[in-house]
Amino acid sequence: MFDPWCPTCAARVLLTARRLLALEPTPTGHRARLRCWCGTVAALDVERLAAGPARPPVVGDAPPVPGASPTAA
Ligand SMILES: [Zn+2]
Repeated sequence: MFDPWCPTCAARVLLTARRLLALEPTPTGHRARLRCWCGTVAALDVERLAAGPARPPVVGDAPPVPGASPTAA
């Protein structure tokens, strides 16, 4: 979600990535150009986050559960 300032609406508007027109690199991050619901193209500077801890890859495989099957006598 982006919340650029729209000069036409005179307010900050919440826009989804679907409204994103372009992402331009800047020295500190990116400048997102988004089309507001009113049609105005608003720009939002997105600062690059400082180097944080690297997220480990998510492993989606569940381990097999042993001994779950009942044995009939
Ligand atoms: Zn607007």
